Amino acid sequence: MPVVAGPPPSANGGALNPPIQRVSTVIFPTMDAYIERHKGLYDDVIYGLYGTETSFALAEAIARLENGRKTLLTGSGTSAIAQALSAFVSAGDHVLVADNVYGPTRRFCGEVLSRFGVVVAYFDPLRIDALVPAIQAKTRVIYLESPGSQTFEMTDVPAIATLARARGIKTIVDNTWASPLFFKPILAGVDVSLASATKYLSGHSDVLMGALTTADEATFRALKDSTARWGEHASPDDCYLVHRGLRTLAVRMARHQENALTLANWLAGHPEVMRVLCPALPSDPGHAIWKRDFRGASGLFGVILKRRSHRANAAMCDHFRYFKLGSSWGGFESLMVPSWPPPIRNHGAGPIDGDLFRIHAGLEDVQDLIGDLDRALAHRAAYAD
Ligand SMILES: *Cc1c(COP(=O)(O)O)cnc(C)c1O
Repeated sequence: MPVVAGPPPSANGGALNPPIQRVSTVIFPTMDAYIERHKGLYDDVIYGLYGTETSFALAEAIARLENGRKTLLTGSGTSAIAQALSAFVSAGDHVLVADNVYGPTRRFCGEVLSRFGVVVAYFDPLRIDALVPAIQAKTRVIYLESPGSQTFEMTDVPAIATLARARGIKTIVDNTWASPLFFKPILAGVDVSLASATKYLSGHSDVLMGALTTADEATFRALKDSTARWGEHASPDDCYLVHRGLRTLAVRMARHQENALTLANWLAGHPEVMRVLCPALPSDPGHAIWKRDFRGASGLFGVILKRRSHRANAAMCDHFRYFKLGSSWGGFESLMVPSWPPPIRNHGAGPIDGDLFRIHAGLEDVQDLIGDLDRALAHRAAYAD
């Protein structure tokens, strides 16, 4: 479906791909049309800041993949997080955030939301029984990420969405890991599905973008009203590139999954490895939820290596030929980076009893990647501390 998602070519004079519409000023034919232009805020091109034919085409395609009502595009995944978290709260309101979220999400809550008088509390994403008593009269949003960044713990998203909806609380899920191909938060009852389109949707490590897909029109409008005030925008050239990325999303995800599972299984049997953090492995504590709710696994997983010195870890990383050291993920290339500083938790220390690394399995030949890991881990093990 990602191959054909978006407006049909007949909408663009037969051009197979949506044209790049570069525009700030839009001209209106009459004074009355100009005065009334803001009525088109949600669906029409009224000013470049609020959307172009190119961004509307991509938004339509992503909304369809997510089984959502509508999608709003932002300048980055990080800005999508900031926009989603600020759209539904006022001073004095309360937000509950899963303890395993992406680090910058936590920082936005602690460094920005708190300055505006919004109270943020964290809950253990593995314990729904502990979530219910944490809900307050002023709780407006429950924010989730499954599996969580760094620790890859799975959350029971449908159960939390159900209990939140019964109380009139909005749920937001960061669905970047799975992509809309492997998990559909909206079908699980969530109000807003968030993606860093920088990752799999674009897929080539050359674009930054965020996407917020809503379950209904009212949630979309509330988000758009708020993002318009912040001046949030996704450039038409970047929208074009992400739309192009969508064409190959399904074949890329299949290969990311295949390579990741091969690497994860190989690593699980390696003497340097204490544990592999990947919900697609039957031994993983989150496997049952993953199997029930997800249609596949992406290329990103964690590995806890036996504790060794900083120099031994550097010896490993500095001997890679294929694996790269770099932030972000979701592109064609394989990455392996230390999770340092280790993830912050309010509830328990997390599963970190060795040296935690994060692997992104790219699209390379998996035998090359295994050879690379084998050599680098041998350097690590042989390093005289
Ligand atoms: C990378 C990432 C983001 C942020 O995306 P950017 O486009 O880099 O700002 C958000 N959530 C998750 C889970 C991510 O991995």
